[in-house]
Amino acid sequence: MAAAQFDRVADALELDQSIRDRCKWPKRIVTVTCPVQLDDGRVETFFGHRVQHHLSRGPTKGGLRYHPKVSIGEVAALAMWMNWKCALAGLPYGGGKGGITCDPTTMSYGEQERLTRRFTMEMIPFIGVETDVMAPDMGTNEQTMAWILDTYSTHAGYLVPGIVTGKPVGLQGTEGRTEATGRGVGFLVYRVLDRLGISSSHASAVIQGFGNVGRHAALTLAAYGVKVMGISDVKGAVWNESGIDVKALCRHVDLTGSVVGYAEAEAMDPEEMLLQECDALIPAAVERVINGENAGKLQCRVLAEAANGPTTPDADLILEERGDVFVIPDILCNAGGVIVSYFEWVQNLQRFNWSRSEVLTKLETKLQQSLERVIYTAEKRGMPFRMAATALGVEETAGAKGMRGLFP
Ligand code: GLU
Repeated sequence: MAAAQFDRVADALELDQSIRDRCKWPKRIVTVTCPVQLDDGRVETFFGHRVQHHLSRGPTKGGLRYHPKVSIGEVAALAMWMNWKCALAGLPYGGGKGGITCDPTTMSYGEQERLTRRFTMEMIPFIGVETDVMAPDMGTNEQTMAWILDTYSTHAGYLVPGIVTGKPVGLQGTEGRTEATGRGVGFLVYRVLDRLGISSSHASAVIQGFGNVGRHAALTLAAYGVKVMGISDVKGAVWNESGIDVKALCRHVDLTGSVVGYAEAEAMDPEEMLLQECDALIPAAVERVINGENAGKLQCRVLAEAANGPTTPDADLILEERGDVFVIPDILCNAGGVIVSYFEWVQNLQRFNWSRSEVLTKLETKLQQSLERVIYTAEKRGMPFRMAATALGVEETAGAKGMRGLFP
C-alpha cells in the first residue's frame, strides 16, 4: 500500500528515476533476535525490526510496535509513511518504525520489560539522539519508553533523555504527549467539519478503536460538543444514538478492559458500526479496515484516519469516485503524536521544559498549517487529499536529497 501510494505520487510529480528510487527504498533495515527468559523458565527468541527510511533531513523518527502480526514489510511501510508525515509537518526528521513480533497481552510485566531491554541492547549500535529516536505505537506505552531510556542511559553512563519520546513526564517526557495524537485527530475533525459548514454541536462521530488514540480522540470530540454515537475495540462495539458519555465509558474500560458490557449503550456488530450514518468516521485501530468491500457503503461526511494505513488503495479509488467523503489522510490526521514527540525531543536538547498550554498551542498551530497546505495543494493540483499530503512530503524529501547531492 505504501509503495503503491508513493508510485502514484512519484508519477504525478514526474520524479526523476534516481531520486524516485532514493525516496522509495529504506536506507537501513535492521532485524535482531531477542532471546528472553519467560516467567516459566523457558527461553523464547523474538524477532525485532527497525527500519530507518532515510536520514537526509535529520534523525529517523517513529514508533515501536508490539503485535503478533508485526513483519518486516509492515514495519517498512510504516517507516515510509512516517517519512511523509514528518516532512509534511515540517519536522527535521526522516521516517522510522520498529516492531517486535510478540503478543504483549499475554506477556507479564517482567517478560515485557526483559524483551524491551534486550531489544534495546541489540539496537544500541543503530539508534541515537541524532540517529534514530523511538516512541510508543500499538502495544507499547510510556513504560516501554522508560525501559528503553534506562537501558540506553545505563549503557552510556549518563541520562540520555532524547533517545526516546513519549516517555513519562517524570523522566523528562513532555506535558501533552499522551493525548497528543487523539487530541490532534479531534482538532482536525473539528476544523474540517467547520469548513463543511457542520457545527460541532450538531455533529456525530463513530470511532473504531479505543486505545490511546481512539480514547483521546473521543474525549476531545466530546469536549467540542460532538455526539460520539459508536465506539468499538477488539472485543466488540457499543452504540448509543443520543451519544455516549465518553468519560463514563473510559471508567468502564479501565475497570473491565473493554467497551463491551457498557450499560448505557447497546451492543453492535463492529463491522456494521462502520457503515452507520454519521458526520465523522474515525478508524483508530489497525491497517486496511476501509477496503473495497465497505468503502462504497460508508455513510460519513468525513473519514478521519487516526490509524496508520486504515484505507486500502482500492477503497481510495472508490472514495475518489464517490467524491462525497472528505478524507483526512493518516499522515496528516494522526501527526499530532509525532509533532509533540518533536517538541519533547527539542525540550530534551534544550534542557528546558515547556508548559502544557505552550505545547498544545504549538501543536494546533502546526496541524492547522498542515491542513491548510494539504487543502491548498489538493485544490491547486486537482489531487485527492492523500495524494496532496504525500506529494508535499515526497517533494520535501526529494528536495533535501537533491540539494545534498551524491556522496561519494
Ligand atoms: N507511533 C506514532 C506514529 O505512528 C508516533 C511516532 C513518534 O512520536 O515518533 O505517528
